[in-house]
Amino acid sequence: MLLIACPWCGPRPEMEFRHAGEAHLARPADPAAVSDAAWAAYLYERSNPRGEHAERWRHLHGCGRFFNARRHTLTDRISATYKPGEAP
Ligand SMILES: [Zn+2]
Repeated sequence: MLLIACPWCGPRPEMEFRHAGEAHLARPADPAAVSDAAWAAYLYERSNPRGEHAERWRHLHGCGRFFNARRHTLTDRISATYKPGEAP
């Protein structure tokens, strides 16, 4: 079983968490001002690296908060978790 360290609750079983996509995506400040292609890219285009990846996770069956994690996509090893707004 994979243990994930919630920044607020500490290490917990992976079953308490839900993956919430790629981290550090910047929403356009004025969505009406961007092109359809740029808006579609913001909504749907994601990196798919082989290796370390910054992801958002939610401690769904715990504190309910979102946080970020650096996970290796091949090994599932999580090297760091940190609160939103903190540096990776
Ligand atoms: Zn938590």
